[in-house]
Amino acid sequence: MAKTEREIRQDVVDIGRLIYQKGWVAANDGNITVRLDQDRVLCTPTGVSKGMMQADDLIICDMQGNKLQGVKERTSEIAMHLTVYNLRPDVRSVVHAHPPVATGYATAGRPLNQALLPEVIIGLGCVPLADYGLPGTPALTDPMLPLIPKYDALLMANHGAVCYGEDVYKAFFRMETVEHYARISLVAELLGGATVLPKTEVEKLLESRTRYGVTARAGAEPGCPVVAEEAAPGAGKFLVTREELIGLVEAALHARGVA
Ligand SMILES: [Zn+2]
Repeated sequence: MAKTEREIRQDVVDIGRLIYQKGWVAANDGNITVRLDQDRVLCTPTGVSKGMMQADDLIICDMQGNKLQGVKERTSEIAMHLTVYNLRPDVRSVVHAHPPVATGYATAGRPLNQALLPEVIIGLGCVPLADYGLPGTPALTDPMLPLIPKYDALLMANHGAVCYGEDVYKAFFRMETVEHYARISLVAELLGGATVLPKTEVEKLLESRTRYGVTARAGAEPGCPVVAEEAAPGAGKFLVTREELIGLVEAALHARGVA
């Protein structure tokens, strides 16, 4: 049975508290939205800690971001959320936060895209990195446009992460998976580097999605996730003998009529 608006408001308040308690936001950072119907989105207010919201603090906007109902002002990132809803009719909730380890990767200019953990490969494929854009402006959303249709979780360079799904819990759990994946990746790096899974194992995991009932978007694309064969030192290079190299150069010169 579909939840009432009151229940959905309480879900957003509960998820906001969890995000705050987990340390994924500081002060008034982060924002959460839920698509109530074709024309209305419930969103968190600006200037309020996501850990200390009341159900009545939430605001209802139209699909252009205009406030329809609510006392406080809506989140400054409403345009980014609306962009996700416009590109993904299947999405009913968007969660944006700054979980510190995933945001550390985003700040270092590094996507979370290596084939390391079965759950992440099955659930997300990988977490690509969108280039930096000024928050609250189209510059923030422009680099995300090609990624939103293909992935359910994104890093935003020098900023944070955004995850989305069929409801606010799904979006929240995706954020949790992203931060957990980032923490494990960081520990593996501190221990000398992760062992990346080979292509054959990644393919088996992607095939197992139907068994687990997972309907993730991303998968089986070059570089998402990066498999062992692509991650190996020297991947993309090839070796030739001295004689083969001389032969290649001579053939190239001959073809141009200079030898
Ligand atoms: Zn942010």
